[in-house]
Formats: sequence, structure tokens, C-alpha cells
Amino acid sequence: MKALTYQGPRQISYSDVPDPILTAPDSAIIRVTASGICGSDLHIYGGHGFTDKIGYSVGHEAVGEIVELGPEVRSLAIGDRVLVSASAGCNRCAKCRVGIVAACERTPLAIDACYGLGGALPGGQAQLLAVPHAEGNLMRLPEGVSDAAAVVLTDNAPTAWYGARRARIAPGDTVVVIGLGPVGLMAIQSAFAMGAARVLGVDLIAERRKQAAELGAEPVEADDPKLAIREMLGGGADVAIEAVGADATIKLAISAVGHRGRVSVIGVNQNRAYPFHMPLAQVKELEFHIGLCSIQYELPTLLKLTAAGRLRPEAVVTHPIPMSDGANAYQLFDERADGVSKVVLDP
Ligand code: NAD
Ligand code: ZN
Repeated sequence: MKALTYQGPRQISYSDVPDPILTAPDSAIIRVTASGICGSDLHIYGGHGFTDKIGYSVGHEAVGEIVELGPEVRSLAIGDRVLVSASAGCNRCAKCRVGIVAACERTPLAIDACYGLGGALPGGQAQLLAVPHAEGNLMRLPEGVSDAAAVVLTDNAPTAWYGARRARIAPGDTVVVIGLGPVGLMAIQSAFAMGAARVLGVDLIAERRKQAAELGAEPVEADDPKLAIREMLGGGADVAIEAVGADATIKLAISAVGHRGRVSVIGVNQNRAYPFHMPLAQVKELEFHIGLCSIQYELPTLLKLTAAGRLRPEAVVTHPIPMSDGANAYQLFDERADGVSKVVLDP
């Protein structure tokens, strides 16, 4: 079969790789019908992945149809349309049983928990994908959820929803979303679905602020977003969601909220330490949330909201591209060219 593989910094290749086989009696194989490129894939693309290995298959946002099932899988059938949660759990430990897969007791290392990082799991930017512990890691798609929507639901949408949920967005709240990539755009949709009155969007790229405005957010058009947010809201926001993964944007999130404001960080920051402004946080009675999303936990809610048209994950997909053109697709997404938000590859 064909798959996208990492061959070194900025080198993605459309390669021949062996077909996957069932790895255990509770596993499954899906024929991938759509697969996304995520902001996190750009770390690998740039040469800052989890491993120095090369040649491994990449991607962790796969949607498809079940073509093979191990004998222990009871709740799924061949032919089911499914999405693959971007990170996999064992489906047996106490944490996985309640969906908190990010804390799976048997998969302690991120490199082995997520597809396509060069660890235990192969990449989902491929024609076929073996999925371990299928009943926990595959989610059957309801009618009315398109492949494009489902790709966003494998990772970006649940991450955004999780960030918004942890900030306890309540009806009438004012929310600032910092970083308007696919995750940030889904955070805007999540905030409105939870009843936010106003959502402001901050990004360096004008095209991305425009995409936020199309979802009903108010773009912050200023060189000094901190000041502009205060002026637009007449004070601090109730909630700030950081969807970038940088020190400067965590700082902006903290300054954007008012007294008893809730900051929720979902951007993945590579730095070891962050210089927290303790007196400011104390005076503000700041709430600071940070974490990794357990996709399986969020999905039942999100699939219902999407099937009912209350969330529109497909709205962030801008570029459907054949997987054979994967190298160019990565370059386009990396350079933020052509108004790109979400790239969905067709295998
Ligand atoms: P993306 O790279 O497409 O979006 C990031 C956006 O931030 C870009 O539009 C960029 O212009 C903007 N940005 C960068 N610096 C900025 C600044 N100083 N001020 C304002 N905006 C700035 O990525 P994405 O796919 O939307 O993902 C966003 C983040 O979420 C990434 O860090 C990703 O690794 C992370 N993520 C976290 C989880 C989780 O479970 N916590 C899961 C998936 C992804
Ligand atoms: Zn587990």
C-alpha cells in the first residue's frame, strides 16, 4: 500500500510500505478514506519529532471503513464508517474504561500512544491502518457526519472542546481565543456552542482572523492585542483559550482575562519552564488549566453536536488534496500559503 513517510527535515515521501496485519484479536484494520495534517505534524516535518529515526509513516487523523476485525471485537462490524481517535488507549485500565485515555496506565509514552510519531503505532496518512483495541479507539460515525468533519473530530475539535470545557465557559461569557489554526477555529465554535456572548480571535495572520470572523468571532486587529482586547470588552475577558503553544501567547492569555478569569492552555509548548507572574495571578485569583485532551472522552458529545448541525468541524477544512501530492500538501500547510487552514488528504 501507499503511505506518507518522513525522510528527514521537510521531506515527506509518498512511499510503498507493507500492508498492515491484525496485531491482536481485539484489533481492526481500516481502509482510510480521509486523513488530516495537524499542526503537531509540523514538528516532525520541521525535524523536531519524537525520534531521530527516518522512514516511518506519519499522520494521526484518520477516517475510514473497517475492512478486517479481530475475533474479540463485538461492537463493531466490517463495513462500519469510523473515525480513529488520534491517540490510542489500552481500553482495559481504569482510566481508559472511562475515556481518560491521555492517562492510560499501559501506554505511558506519548510516542507510543499516538499514530505516526515513529513509535509503536503506524501513521494514518496511509491507505490502510491497523488500530489496536478497536472497541475503545474507533468511533462509529453517525449519519450526517461527513469525512471532512470526521477528520477534524479525530483530534482538533475534541482538543478545542476540551479546552473550552475546562475553562467552564458559561452562557453570556466573553472569550478570547489566541491562535486561529484549526484548533483555535474549533475553540470559537465550541465557545459559541457553550453559550458565549462574544468571542474575540487573535492571530498574526490576517487570513486566519478572517476565517474566525466568518465563524462569528470578532477579530482583534491591532499591533498590541492586549490593549485592544481591553478596549473591545471594556475590561478583561471571562475566559482565554491559548491554542498556539508559545510563552508570549500564554502571557497574553493571562493578561486578557479579568478578575477570576479562567485561562485554558491547549497549545503544546516545547519549553521546560514558564515564568509565571505570581503576584498578578494572585491578585486576579486566576484559574490556570493546561492538559492533553482525551479524545475518546469528548467524542460522544461532539458527534451528537455535529450530527445535529450545532458544530460544523468541516467549516475549517480548506484544502482537500490527493495523498499522492502529500509532499506539496505539507509544504503548503507549513508555509500557511493560499489561505490554508485544514488540509485533508485523500488516499
Ligand atoms: P496551527 O499551527 O495551524 O495554528 C497555530 C496558530 O497560532 C497559527 O495560525 C499562528 O499564526 C498562530 N500564532 C503563532 N504565534 C502567534 C502569536 N504570537 N500570537 C497570535 N497567534 C500566533 O496549529 P493547530 O493545528 O491549530 O494547533 C494549535 C496548537 O494545539 C498546537 O500547539 C498543537 O500542537 C496543539 N494541540 C494540542 C492538543 C492537546 O491535546 N492539548 C491536541 C492537538 C493539538
Ligand atoms: Zn489504558
